[in-house]
Amino acid sequence: MSNKASEQQRQVCYCNKDRNLNIIELWCLGCRRWFHESCISYQLGKLVPFMLNYAFYCKNCSPSGLETFRKIQAQFQQMCITALANLQQYEAKEGRDKTLFSVDKDILPFIEMHWEGLTTMSRRVTNTWHQTISRTLQKDLGILFRQEVPKDEQETEVLYGLKNTDVTQIHPATSEPAPAKARGGKRRTLPGGDVVSKKARGENAALKLMTHGYPVDHPFNKDGFRYVLAEPDPNAPHRQEFDEMNDWQGRRIPSWLYRAMAPSQVMLALHDRATQLKVTEGRTAVTGDKGYASIRATHFVSRGTWYYEATITEMAENAATRIGFAQALANLQAPIGFDKFGYSWRSRKGTKFHDSRGLHYSDEGYGKGDTLGFLIHLPVEATPTRHQKLPPSIKDRPLVRFKNHLYFEEREDAAEEVKKLTPLPNSYIKFFRNGEDMRVAFEGIYDGQYYPALGLYRAVTVSLNFGPDFKFPPPLRDARPFSDRAQEYVKELSKADTAYLTENYNTLRLE
Ligand SMILES: [Zn+2]
Ligand SMILES: [Zn+2]
Repeated sequence: MSNKASEQQRQVCYCNKDRNLNIIELWCLGCRRWFHESCISYQLGKLVPFMLNYAFYCKNCSPSGLETFRKIQAQFQQMCITALANLQQYEAKEGRDKTLFSVDKDILPFIEMHWEGLTTMSRRVTNTWHQTISRTLQKDLGILFRQEVPKDEQETEVLYGLKNTDVTQIHPATSEPAPAKARGGKRRTLPGGDVVSKKARGENAALKLMTHGYPVDHPFNKDGFRYVLAEPDPNAPHRQEFDEMNDWQGRRIPSWLYRAMAPSQVMLALHDRATQLKVTEGRTAVTGDKGYASIRATHFVSRGTWYYEATITEMAENAATRIGFAQALANLQAPIGFDKFGYSWRSRKGTKFHDSRGLHYSDEGYGKGDTLGFLIHLPVEATPTRHQKLPPSIKDRPLVRFKNHLYFEEREDAAEEVKKLTPLPNSYIKFFRNGEDMRVAFEGIYDGQYYPALGLYRAVTVSLNFGPDFKFPPPLRDARPFSDRAQEYVKELSKADTAYLTENYNTLRLE
């Protein structure tokens, strides 16, 4: 699709709104669509509109499901194109049809002012680059640029403009066909891999592949602080206004313009683990380290009957696990069942644990090769408890920036929360070993939001299966696979966010 009409008919961005030439928009090398800066989760840093020197992949085209962005060093020629396009668009915005500009009065000052946005080169110490700009414009006259020589004898200045004044066509070059989106076990293509020149390959090696929609460099949940990956909310009001305010740099971004990014599938949570635990790339298996350390899955449940499986794939003689369910505040530098927020079943002797008390449960423990089932039953009360209502929107929490992404920061005090724990009548947890029902382990568990969770001690590897295809399907017909929770949670979140935006509409202002 290279002809102009079809380019313009293409869908724009995730939001499906029109292009806006007055703001920064990025061109995806995969689907070759435009994306508005404020619709992009990745924190881009200083940029200017009409840039040519970057590799961007949108969420739909990036193998990880997370946007990737990388600046490529701009040549002076590209800087000239970007400068002229911006100067021209600025005039157009003011209603003027001016397309020719002075090197000294317009082009050089623009480049000077936006140097860091335009290029990764460091600022020049001397002004010799001024000559380079003039030479660059001269060199590509008739190809990229055009000039106007003064007719008036008094006037000596030559003006320059773009040969093609249709600035909507300015985007990074796509040299090869887009990479196919990798799925499942297929080989993954490094983002940007198809446009990297020989010279740039070195930096490509440093580009870390992200795993299943979560940034490799991320903050860890710790000491009552929890971090939820944020993405721009397409339904938030005043978004275009926010886009066009160019004095926002450095100020706090209003949280309500963003929303929690819900993982598309249930996996182990990279950010919700003791840092010493090693999680595999697919985020379905985890290996222990030295002392006991724990990890939670990405999703919780607070009502209904839910099931997941865990298989012990490797286990050294002196290693152990305690697997079960835990709330968000359960300490991860301890086994599950160490505090009041978790319930577990230990491999050694089959002991069950809650609040650091170990009680006899199954006559034998479990070990390498065993597949275990974990079932939690949280009946829906006639009057839903605070945990059984929709999860509240987190749009009112502060947004914090960590590397290239924004996160909502939540804070909860475990010492305070533990006082509020109340048992949920008729709730229970039971475990299964290779399909055998080991009977109820815990009854009347505390009301709350429970994640699949496991603690590992030394060299043990556990592989998780959240369904829907289980090795030993749960015997209860109404038990749902944890995998079902992903879609359900997306719906709950979106309901909660919509309610928040509606209730607070009058107070949401850009100030
Ligand atoms: Zn958009
Ligand atoms: Zn794309």
